[in-house]
Amino acid sequence: MMKLDSYWLDTAPLFTGGEREPVSGRVDVAVVGGGFTGLSSALALARRGASVVVFEAGRVIGAASGRNGGQCNSGLAHDYGSLAARIGAERAAAYYRAYEAAVQTVEEVVARERIDCGFVRCGRLKLAAKPEHYGKLARACERLAREVDPAVEMIPPERIRDEVGSDAFFGGLLQKTSAQMHVGRFGVGLAEAATRHGARILENAPVTEIKRLGDGTYRVGSARGSVHATQVLLASGSSAVGPFGWFRRRLVSVGSFIITTEPLDRALLDRLLPHRRGYVTSKNVGNYFRTTADNRLVFGGRARFAMSNPRSDQKSGRILRATLAATFPELADARIDYCWGGLVDMTADRLPRAGQHDGMFYSLGYSGHGVQMSVHMGELMADVMAGKADANPWRELDWPAIPGHFGKPWFLPFVGAYYRFQDLIH
Ligand SMILES: Cc1cc2nc3c(=O)[nH]c(=O)nc-3n(C[C@H](O)[C@H](O)[C@H](O)COP(=O)(O)OP(=O)(O)OC[C@H]3O[C@@H](n4cnc5c(N)ncnc54)[C@H](O)[C@@H]3O)c2cc1C
Repeated sequence: MMKLDSYWLDTAPLFTGGEREPVSGRVDVAVVGGGFTGLSSALALARRGASVVVFEAGRVIGAASGRNGGQCNSGLAHDYGSLAARIGAERAAAYYRAYEAAVQTVEEVVARERIDCGFVRCGRLKLAAKPEHYGKLARACERLAREVDPAVEMIPPERIRDEVGSDAFFGGLLQKTSAQMHVGRFGVGLAEAATRHGARILENAPVTEIKRLGDGTYRVGSARGSVHATQVLLASGSSAVGPFGWFRRRLVSVGSFIITTEPLDRALLDRLLPHRRGYVTSKNVGNYFRTTADNRLVFGGRARFAMSNPRSDQKSGRILRATLAATFPELADARIDYCWGGLVDMTADRLPRAGQHDGMFYSLGYSGHGVQMSVHMGELMADVMAGKADANPWRELDWPAIPGHFGKPWFLPFVGAYYRFQDLIH
């Protein structure tokens, strides 16, 4: 029976370190959200001796952090050349390096806190889904190698079969420092590390009120008690709950969907994906995939431009299944054991935003590339909150509201149609 649940959450140990009693009293920091951003910041703050309470509306890593593709990639999601043309080469290089530093942060946290999550620098291969995409990737590769990342290499069309056992691709760009891990095991390990260092985590505790008091401190109210906090960090991802209208007008939540096969024959996987990397395809509405330690294929994409819920997840699952079969005909009959979806918090320019609004700190909007950056930003926000604003790599970005957007993505089908149209013509 196919499970409508995340493979990562289903195969991770349960987090049992949550607070049992309601909270009250004074704390140094209240963190809203128990995904990677919130947990990583709680760990970093607690290690410095701050008293920290994390309020999580559902279960720890129950949203994007436990429901993603498990790729922990170096480098930007953007085409490097286009971004450099838009914001300047120096800033594009700094942003690119921020992602490299973020993968490094994940690696360090995993080693220091001894989190058993199969972190491995397997490399990430961006696959040209059309012959004409290869040239663009090659130009990006050449520029990256020259300006910012020597660990990149083109896999030409004639060698792509050594990398991927499929006729669907026409070469690719390999970024060798990218990594992957079991994000469920990582997230639970991160939560346990935070509590080990003294942070308190409350699950099933949606924050419904944040009131700024006369002395600049905050009253943070939740379903499971309220605290008086000197500082607040909003790490709430694609939040639909809580008094965060200002942020909702700046983020669009887009559904992304994933299917996972039954454990496959090892020899078959050796033939299809011998290097077990993270893979993404070059279309706008592209796919991402990787294998697991128990030889499953995890295959995702923004299959439909719809919000995530069990019905829409299943519909997307059927579309993904057809794409999987077209990409790897040998897997056409493979059983699908898991199918789930999640919400990606997109900004208009697909760059994260972090800083302070109304005195409250925030780090949000990783736009589908947040496994590494959320963990990294959690640590950096601990620095920012200690007065080191320069630690924030995104500090120079302004964040205007999206015109006509009040948090409900009524225009999603149009955006979807637009990107599919772009895929047809490019
Ligand atoms: C399907 C999918 C695939 C993805 N694949 C990848 C990938 O392969 N690689 C990659 O780098 N990135 C990927 N991403 C993105 C990545 O998962 C996210 O960027 C990252 O996990 C964000 O972490 P976060 O802690 O900021 O947010 P989240 O994990 O969303 O955590 C926010 C938490 O805040 C809680 N919350 C919200 N409102 C409140 C409130 N009022 N009170 C209390 N708690 C609240 C939520 O319940 C949630 O648990 C993917 C995302 C999705 C959805």
